[in-house]
Amino acid sequence: MTPSSTTSPSIIAIDGPAASGKSTLGRRLADELGYLFFDTGVMYRAVTWLALQRGVDVNDEAAVTSLAETAQIDVAAPSQEDGRACDVLADGQDITWETRRREVDANVSVVSAYAGVRKALSEQQRRIGKRGRVVMVGRDIGTVVLPEADLKVYLDATADERARRRYDEVRARGENPDYQEILDKVIQRDHIDSTRAVAPLRPAEDAVILDSDRLDADEVFQRVKDLCR
Ligand code: C5P
Repeated sequence: MTPSSTTSPSIIAIDGPAASGKSTLGRRLADELGYLFFDTGVMYRAVTWLALQRGVDVNDEAAVTSLAETAQIDVAAPSQEDGRACDVLADGQDITWETRRREVDANVSVVSAYAGVRKALSEQQRRIGKRGRVVMVGRDIGTVVLPEADLKVYLDATADERARRRYDEVRARGENPDYQEILDKVIQRDHIDSTRAVAPLRPAEDAVILDSDRLDADEVFQRVKDLCR
């Protein structure tokens, strides 16, 4: 497979729960194909961070929705080599690492359950995705944002395995996390994401489901590369 391959699927959707390895897979696949990598979770994170920072109550649906409709959120190629997959900008300010903070993790599922927030953000995601040559990662890409995607992958893993990965990630950043707290949050976030009324987390009917408990990152990548052929 080469970046100029004409047989590769043009729109690739990767969905799955938090910390299932979607971003690692998506980033690698996009590099391999010479496609745009777009992690849609950063947009929900950016709105959540903005609400917290501006003192907007995250339980105030109307206020949070208006923020999502008016804030200028941009996702751009990484400007620094500090481990980031992309730059996240809100009204021109670089908030990449702010969107990874614990308070954002704890509140993002509430924000992303609001219909108006989803409408505002998924319209932007769809506009970018429809251009093609894109690997788009999220929760509802194959079901709602780009149901016409040429290849849909749903990457799953147990909550324990995903919490362990998050724990390792946070430790690698020099913090001292509590494993049980991370696990509880992962389970809580899964619950909200998969039971919300609008665009709940679930595999599309035509998605290929891969279990990353049983496959390591290289094996997952290889499987998806094979599916692209
Ligand atoms: O993937 P990540 O953990 O960064 O996503 C953060 C949150 O954003 C998810 O828990 C989910 O609530 C929300 N999200 C979503 N739809 C997407 C991407 C993310 O609801 N397409």
